[in-house]
Amino acid sequence: MEVVCPVCGGRATGRVGSGQYYCWDCCVEFSAGRRGVQVYRVEEDGSLVHLRPEEVRELTGVRRSGDHPPRT
Ligand SMILES: [Zn+2]
Repeated sequence: MEVVCPVCGGRATGRVGSGQYYCWDCCVEFSAGRRGVQVYRVEEDGSLVHLRPEEVRELTGVRRSGDHPPRT
């Protein structure tokens, strides 16, 4: 089964646990469960921080705008 990252839409994902996956592109963990897709940011100390849906949207927005860097 191919798992697509809910943040970047990429396929550079690896399974890290039961129903849990890691995206190598955005360095987030995510799980697909009954409540939908949950996304977690991995802190430097290895702990997971749950991201709210609006935070996930911010992440995806950051990546998209990163394709076209703003002029400074
Ligand atoms: Zn990703």
